[in-house]
Amino acid sequence: MKIEGLRMRGGSDFHRDLRQRVDAWFTETGKDTHGDARMWRKSVALMAGFALMVGGFWLSDGGWIAILGFGIPLGLFWAGLGFSVMHDGNHAAYSTDKRVNRGMGFVLDIIGGSSYLWRHKHNRVHHSHPNVVGVDDDLEAGFFLRMAPGQDWLPMHRMQQWYMWPLYGFIAIKWHLMDDYAQMMRGHINDVPFARPKGRDLAEFVVGKIIFHAWAIVIPALIFGLGTAALFWLVSAFVCGIALAVVFQLAHCVEEADFVVPPTDGSRLELDWAELQLATTVDFAPDNPLATWYLGGLNFQVVHHLFPRICHVHYPELAKIVAATAADHGLKYRCNPTVRAALASHFRWMRRMGRTPESAPAPVGAPEPALR
Ligand SMILES: [Zn+2]
Repeated sequence: MKIEGLRMRGGSDFHRDLRQRVDAWFTETGKDTHGDARMWRKSVALMAGFALMVGGFWLSDGGWIAILGFGIPLGLFWAGLGFSVMHDGNHAAYSTDKRVNRGMGFVLDIIGGSSYLWRHKHNRVHHSHPNVVGVDDDLEAGFFLRMAPGQDWLPMHRMQQWYMWPLYGFIAIKWHLMDDYAQMMRGHINDVPFARPKGRDLAEFVVGKIIFHAWAIVIPALIFGLGTAALFWLVSAFVCGIALAVVFQLAHCVEEADFVVPPTDGSRLELDWAELQLATTVDFAPDNPLATWYLGGLNFQVVHHLFPRICHVHYPELAKIVAATAADHGLKYRCNPTVRAALASHFRWMRRMGRTPESAPAPVGAPEPALR
């Protein structure tokens, strides 16, 4: 299915009103929509933690205690750089300076991804079409998981609410080993084509891969041998993968979110872009300062989806405006109060999707909160 095939209704009053209220908030407070000193402090802290864990391991004896003692926190710093640094950089939300955004976006290349492909699959495909089955790449886990109505069901999915947790650990590993290369060769993601990188974009892709493989495998292999190096990478990438996958899942793959199967007859969705974001995205733990700091505002994914080019340091305040505006327009702002509530909701949703397809809610072309 081509991405252009999904037609949405024109701009809603909700979207117009929300934009005006958010603009007014920035005018009243005199704040800039980009990041401020908080972003720099956080980036330095995460980068320092990351470098300390990598360097600490290189200087260690390479035994099991070192592999786990440096590898587990490294996985968390690794994911943290994804949540809080490269994400804002690649959305051009980090700074008013394009070079800073590009540099912070390149952090993703250094930690094993590709900022070029990310800007295509995340900014363009995922953000435009969250929870749209067959388009949103974040819903695709091969045949292992059934996350949404409209996806194929297999008997093994009856147990997916249990085996999904360790499976999430392999997401970063698969990403490092396969995804970027496979997507680059195919030239499309979920049938959505992209232009292959040229010039500076291609240079960044190649240099990023060289830097990543150097620190993740080559240098530790020269110090300890390939087996120990591979184990350290596996442990840290496994932890990183679980953190990345769970945070994504808590925002989109929970009972409170709606899923959309695009109409095949060419008719349009009875939702506009902003209403689609609101229906398919769920916040969690808004009052948890540690989650808000570490997750780069991804516990405020509703705000992020509505204003991806605004830096995440502003999200807690903007979430209040989104909730009030949604209520004034008779729309539902969805939020799980705690991390635990969100985890439980994800578990229940996956259990429901793993039952026979007939027991799951029907796919929706125009999602209704009443379906839940
Ligand atoms: Zn984003």
